[in-house]
Amino acid sequence: MERIGFVGLGLMGKPMAKNLLKAGYELVVYNRSRGPMEELAKLGAEMAESPSDLAERSTVIVEMVPDIPDINDVVFSERGVMKGVKEGSVFIDMSTNSPSYSKFLAEEFSKKGVEFLDAPVSGGDKGAIEGTLTIMVGGKEEVFERCLPIFRAMGRHIFYMGPHGSGQMSKLCNQIAVASNMAGICEALTLGSKAGLDLNKLVELIGSGAGGSWAMKNLAPKILKGDFEPGFKSSHLRKDLRYTIKAAEELNLALPFSSLLYQLYNSLVGKGLGEKGTQALMLLFKELNRL
Ligand code: NAP
Repeated sequence: MERIGFVGLGLMGKPMAKNLLKAGYELVVYNRSRGPMEELAKLGAEMAESPSDLAERSTVIVEMVPDIPDINDVVFSERGVMKGVKEGSVFIDMSTNSPSYSKFLAEEFSKKGVEFLDAPVSGGDKGAIEGTLTIMVGGKEEVFERCLPIFRAMGRHIFYMGPHGSGQMSKLCNQIAVASNMAGICEALTLGSKAGLDLNKLVELIGSGAGGSWAMKNLAPKILKGDFEPGFKSSHLRKDLRYTIKAAEELNLALPFSSLLYQLYNSLVGKGLGEKGTQALMLLFKELNRL
């Protein structure tokens, strides 16, 4: 059985790491703040002193930190993964970022004889807790096969999408649908609210028909309760839309909805709501429409 090192124990990483422990894996953990590491240690994980220390003690390293600057810190800093990683190991980036960065990481790890997979996830903190994530993987197929049992411990729907970067590209496509969905829900609730409809009934009826979606089921009820706490932070969705637009530019594509959604989430982050959940977009619609 692989010995897994897990870096980044946030809203997603912590429950994912817990599921690896539940599946019987030996686990070494590292996180910037100490609290989540201690929580995992109580459940049987070992704590590492640094990403480098973690890499020395693992055969597969899973990383779930927010964005590229954070991954650069985890991988390339003085106490980073590159300093300790052993030849023949696998590094799996499960966060969401740019497909071109995945190709760069794959190249850098290959210089050390280390395999790389980009394996971002979908399904929210709920999916992470319940172990039902959708996982989309890019990299060599034989490395994917080696890591499949690890993915199965954290997710329910696992897709091999092709070479390095294909996992991230799939996730960016997914995020276009996620963000459009959220904006659609906010517009529907704005119109329904101004028209005096029963919003609880409205959410139930849209959810039971062709307008239904994961967000309608899980996030619209939170909006109605005034719960804007994050399962998925608005600042992270803004990041994903930024990488979507960058990928579109590299391919000379017009993605007008992604650009519009990026601007909306820019404004939300500008209002100081980046740490709130993506459903906080409703607060922007309320302000725009004097609700
Ligand atoms: P999060 O709650 O902000 O957690 C990030 C974790 O990474 C925190 O525990 C943070 O430590 C740690 N961290 C940051 N920089 C670090 C560093 N240099 N070294 C070690 N640890 C570091 O984020 P999240 O929601 O779990 O998201 C993680 C990634 O998954 C993002 O790319 C996001 O877009 C993606 N994602 C999220 C969701 C979701 O629903 N939340 C769904 C799919 C994909 P501290 O405790 O010190 O802050």
